[in-house]
Amino acid sequence: MSVRVVARIRPLLKNEIDKDVIVTAASNNESTKGSQIVRIPNPKNDAELYSFQFNSVYEQETTQQELFDNEVSPTVKHLFNGLDVTLFAYGVTGTGKTHTMRGGKTLADRGVIPRLLSAIYRRCRKVEKDSQGDSKVEVAMSYYEIYNDRVYDLFEAPEKRTAAGLPIRDNGGKTVVVGLTERPCMTLKEFEQLYDQANVNRSTSATKLNAHSSRSHAILCVKITQISEEHTLVSTASAIDLAGSEDNRRTDNNKERLVESSSINKSLFVLAQCVEAISKKQARIPYRESKMTRILSLGQNDGITVMILNLAPVKSYHLDTLSSLNFANRTKKIEVNEVENEPIFRGPKTTSSLTGPTLNRQPLRA
Ligand code: ADP
Ligand code: MG
Repeated sequence: MSVRVVARIRPLLKNEIDKDVIVTAASNNESTKGSQIVRIPNPKNDAELYSFQFNSVYEQETTQQELFDNEVSPTVKHLFNGLDVTLFAYGVTGTGKTHTMRGGKTLADRGVIPRLLSAIYRRCRKVEKDSQGDSKVEVAMSYYEIYNDRVYDLFEAPEKRTAAGLPIRDNGGKTVVVGLTERPCMTLKEFEQLYDQANVNRSTSATKLNAHSSRSHAILCVKITQISEEHTLVSTASAIDLAGSEDNRRTDNNKERLVESSSINKSLFVLAQCVEAISKKQARIPYRESKMTRILSLGQNDGITVMILNLAPVKSYHLDTLSSLNFANRTKKIEVNEVENEPIFRGPKTTSSLTGPTLNRQPLRA
């Protein structure tokens, strides 16, 4: 299966006006519901429109609930069947990545992450109930950021960080961060407390583009361990809020900021190169050239990947929007194998251990 790529166009902000809207959604087929096409003019010739096709395109008025119901909710059952799920938000600073992933404070404004956790806990209860006490599900989280190609545990206060950050290592085909804190969180409330506390530690600094621009990649991993008498099945949901993909030459940064910028750009640049290499089926994919791409391992990890491409609708983002669209267009072509994590069996395998819900492979959406 390919990476599922969906675009989300954010609504206009207070200082933006209708007249400046250049990004629109369209449907490629009257009979299908919703939109699949993003239209944007050629910057050199307004009369010419470029079209980009995605699995789905969400327009300005799309609610957090709708986005979650359509794109994230369907992955939860696969997660519990043993597939790893990766969700990531890509886009220019100010296009709604953090709004999409984390969201606002009100219930209606909650983003994909708190909604995902809420769905996970609901499913945990169901699994435990359906097994009549035979199965138990444990949930634990880790949360870290990659800043200047260094990995920092977001459960550690910034003043406690070592400058070099945490090392990463290959472990049976998966890239792991060595020494990362893993916190059990058995209820939504527990999760939210830990998540909010860790977000305070996230590096932010003001830029001309966005006063609270995040200049790091934030990676949340939620590990689900389903334990029954016969086996243990571990799967992971990762939600990634990438740093802004803008061209930093526009932001007129001071020197220190420029170092950050070039490093953020480097990892996104390597990501783009990986995507390019994978989509052209090249033998060498330059994963190892940045920590973010090693960890993300697009197309190497088995499981389900959904990329949300966040877009601002207005003219001031024109060139950056085009480069995001081109990036996403290549991402679509990446194949991901749907291989489930193997349950770890205890004792001899019996037929009963093969009939659990974890081994019922269900078809995925195209
Ligand atoms: P990013 O993380 O990509 O830099 P933000 O998530 O911080 O962008 O969004 C930039 C601004 O736009 C914020 O003020 C945010 O509240 C607002 N915003 C983004 N998406 C939406 C949306 N779908 N609905 C309402 N406001 C949004
Ligand atoms: Mg952000």
